[in-house]
Amino acid sequence: QTQPKASQCDVIIVGAGPAGLMLATWLSHYKINTRIVDKRGSKIYAGQADGLQLRSLEIFDSFGFADRAWKEANHMVEMCMWNPGSDGVIRRSDRVPDVPVGLSRFKQIVLHQGRIERFFLDHIKKHSNDTLRVERAVLPESLRIDEDRVADHSPDNYPITVQLRHLSEDEAKPAQSNGSNVSDGLFRSNLADDDTEDLLASSRQKEGGTETVRAKYMVGCDGAHSWTRKQLGFELEGEPTDYIWGVLDIIPITNFPDIRMRCAIHSAAAGSMMVIPRENKLVRLYIQLTEIKPDASGRADRSKITPETIITAAQKIIAPYKLRYEYCDWWTAYQIGQRVGKNFAHESRVFLAGDAVHTHSPKAGQGMNVSMQDAYNLGWKLGLVVKGVAQPSILKTYQSERRRIAQDLIDFDHKFSRLFSGRPAKDVMDEEGVNMKDFKEAFLKGNLFASGLSVDYGTSMLVAKPGNAADQGDGTDVSSQIHVIGKQALASETKLGMRFPSFQVLNQSDARAWEFQQKLKSDGRFRIIVFAGNVVSPQQKGRLDSFCQALASSPLLAPHLVTHVEVLTLHSSKRTEVELLRDFPDVLHPLDAKTGWDYNSVYVDDVSYHEGYVDAYAGYGVDRETGCVVVTRPDQYVGYIDTLDKEGFRGVEAYFRGILVS
Ligand code: FAD
Repeated sequence: QTQPKASQCDVIIVGAGPAGLMLATWLSHYKINTRIVDKRGSKIYAGQADGLQLRSLEIFDSFGFADRAWKEANHMVEMCMWNPGSDGVIRRSDRVPDVPVGLSRFKQIVLHQGRIERFFLDHIKKHSNDTLRVERAVLPESLRIDEDRVADHSPDNYPITVQLRHLSEDEAKPAQSNGSNVSDGLFRSNLADDDTEDLLASSRQKEGGTETVRAKYMVGCDGAHSWTRKQLGFELEGEPTDYIWGVLDIIPITNFPDIRMRCAIHSAAAGSMMVIPRENKLVRLYIQLTEIKPDASGRADRSKITPETIITAAQKIIAPYKLRYEYCDWWTAYQIGQRVGKNFAHESRVFLAGDAVHTHSPKAGQGMNVSMQDAYNLGWKLGLVVKGVAQPSILKTYQSERRRIAQDLIDFDHKFSRLFSGRPAKDVMDEEGVNMKDFKEAFLKGNLFASGLSVDYGTSMLVAKPGNAADQGDGTDVSSQIHVIGKQALASETKLGMRFPSFQVLNQSDARAWEFQQKLKSDGRFRIIVFAGNVVSPQQKGRLDSFCQALASSPLLAPHLVTHVEVLTLHSSKRTEVELLRDFPDVLHPLDAKTGWDYNSVYVDDVSYHEGYVDAYAGYGVDRETGCVVVTRPDQYVGYIDTLDKEGFRGVEAYFRGILVS
């Protein structure tokens, strides 16, 4: 027998769903040797996730492809609530904005997962020069971790050995149910058993090709049934509920007036339904199947669920309005269960992201968003560690930062599902029913969480704020690496641990208006953001000069780091009273021998001819006279804040000392 092929890579990713592709996107920027495998023969073409939340859009924008999603998607503006009156007939009882007003320059949009995966794939192709491709119909069959070598992060250490198996085209295609020609997602639903072991067993009989890969790091983005999680022996904690829901992606024919609005419909006795208007006249309906119950095994019999049973349930909920369809794009069913992983990582070598570590109901549109955001948190950390730029201990913050978000998500989903799946209360005495005022309040509160903008990472070497370093999940203490604490009061609305907010600013050189966050690209760089204050005041100019003197001679701008740290400036004087070359030290707009001065790094908080004025300094909570300095991480989260002077720069250097390899 011939020996399997053997090779090495820096990072192997298992699973090319939204989490795996987000991770591959980051790693393509760092140009490190990455493999990404998926057991399916093709990407998703219909159905599954569709809601893109505000933070996900900001992240897409930072990679440069939010505009593609924004153009193609359906935009959700209003949410309508329909509840039964005292006569039991449903009526529109409320209209609210779909997301809280003024949170972000984006709104929630809806576009199916397959298109979102396409945007990632195109981006990865471009940034990896087409060298990083999803290897489809490939899955791991064994994982060995050399525990004696996991702590050694030297560049030639590959402590992970994965055996990969290549499937045939047929094996990689999931079985569809009921012989239907409409694609369904039941094979991915939690009502179905996972097929990974069957696939491996049948492929072994046919002696399909195998290959051995040695890797430095591995990331399981392999969904709710995660094979990687099982190899590590990690469990998800939580329980399934008795609520069974069906999903239809249809072009509806109906006289229901709000079919192009997002709606939550609670019927008096037939269950609840959520309406999500989609692109191309499609509408997604989430329909509670009150007549289908789990059996003694705790799981519902999926053979009883068809598009016909689901639309019949929908017709009862939406009555007296009529609802039918001629075209169904996709359908599925699932049982609500809220579960979260205890461990997100093994020894900072093998990581889990996305559905592999948290599962919940899809109606709040969170799964894909939180999954991508897990990988967004991990990707740059892995990139910088593999490159030898950052200390491996930053990898511990993945679990401490993301597990808390997953727990918050499960708590939120628990509350939301119960209120949504419960029968409406008949009157104030009906304690078993759900009070519709409570539902509305939970919806409005939940909306901020759901937007992804309330994420607030705890204290660590990456977030220099008061408090103890969060539990790293494996009992290790990284507090010795925390050298400084940021001065939050200097930028009171730019919170340490939260994403850098966005306000309109103007380019000092050409007066063009920008959302400042657009300048914080996801290109792998930390940013030193110099809030230069009122630079026409001689006293302030003196402070800026002394800060810049220290910056110019700092190792942070040495050739090996300059590609990892960028300096941006925002001042508060009148744009027309200052000159880029006269009033700002060179280090803030460096001179390139071939292309001249950098005209894209100094901005001003001033009035735009066409776009008006928003007072960015007030938005950031920074004093217009004295300014300050803010450091953001490559994922736009705020890591450090200090004064704009020599002393403050020493603080900035100390912050970086806790992170970068000296
Ligand atoms: P997945 O998307 O499950 O991707 C895992 C990938 O790993 C798959 O491609 C799979 O083929 C592959 N894989 C699995 N096992 C192996 C293996 N052993 N070897 C190799 N490859 C493997 N989320 C939202 O944010 N908004 C929504 O509106 C929304 N609606 C939803 C509607 C429905 C009906 C469903 C079912 C889900 C919905 N979700 C929604 C949830 C969302 O789809 C998931 O949370 C998201 O896809 C998780 O991404 P992931 O990359 O972690 O996992």
